[in-house]
Amino acid sequence: MTADVIDGKAFSESLKQDVAKQVAILKEKYNLIPGLAVVLVGENPASQIYVRNKNKSTLAAGMKSFEHRLTPDVSEAELVGLVHKLNDDPAVHGILVQLPLPKHINEAAVIDAISPAKDVDGFHVINSGLLATGGKGMVPCTPLGCIMMLKNRLGNMSGLDAVVVGRSNIVGKPMAQLLLNENCTVTIAHSRTRNLSGVVKRADIVIAAVGVPELVKGDWIKDGAIVIDVGINRIEEEDGKTKLVGDVEYAAAARHAAAITPVPGGVGPMTIALLLKNTVTAACRQTNVAEPEI
Ligand code: NAD
Repeated sequence: MTADVIDGKAFSESLKQDVAKQVAILKEKYNLIPGLAVVLVGENPASQIYVRNKNKSTLAAGMKSFEHRLTPDVSEAELVGLVHKLNDDPAVHGILVQLPLPKHINEAAVIDAISPAKDVDGFHVINSGLLATGGKGMVPCTPLGCIMMLKNRLGNMSGLDAVVVGRSNIVGKPMAQLLLNENCTVTIAHSRTRNLSGVVKRADIVIAAVGVPELVKGDWIKDGAIVIDVGINRIEEEDGKTKLVGDVEYAAAARHAAAITPVPGGVGPMTIALLLKNTVTAACRQTNVAEPEI
């Protein structure tokens, strides 16, 4: 068996086009231009690339982009002050503080300061609570992208066995919640899980969100399973060059799975598309406008 490749790049491009159409309608009908503010603290090279890409994609979708770059020695109070200003700015509908933050800043306190209505990352405790209780909050972009890919492939997921490897607040836990909302039977595995291979082997859906290169072995994958690899790991090859790999042993897993996401080109591109989509949703909710259906 050779798995179908789930093309996250193509999927995200079509989502971005839909978002651009929604933005055009909002502009024309309501003179509403969704705005996304991104705050970057310090000079982490990976974060700088993410922020640049977010800015480019926001503008390409016809939205407003507000970029705030702060020096690494900025105090927590100053950062929270900026977040409060953005909360009060009616041109800003979405606020994203790029993580990680420098050690002297309490990330939870900063996320807490973001208005839940503008929390397009979906990390605020109000939004995680709403997700857990079936309410209408903002859903974290990466798990949202994963569930869209799964729905697109599988349609009805009711009763399927889903295993999420990883229990972080930003990927693993919201992912499990979204699968539960789709009526899957969900297992969350983590660093203390015994017999991880046995747990993964019974899954119809495997989500790997660990951050350990190729931790999930190909022969753990049940024949016909769907594999979503969230991991992004940079490894050095023998010739000294670096390459990106996921948390799943891709080639071997593809011999068992019915479909699998590649790294790069799978979950990664979906995350930015869902950030744009969340910003449109946030703008519509804040202005009491129905979100245009495309
Ligand atoms: P994290 O470090 O916060 O959490 C990792 C989780 O993996 C933990 O819950 C831990 O219990 C579990 N874990 C660690 N070692 C394990 C082991 N040996 N066996 C089983 N479980 C183990 O990471 P995160 O923020 O959830 O990110 C996970 C991965 O996803 C990273 O590679 C990250 O770069 C990637 N990521 C990608 C996107 C994207 O857009 N594609 C977005 C967010 C994160």
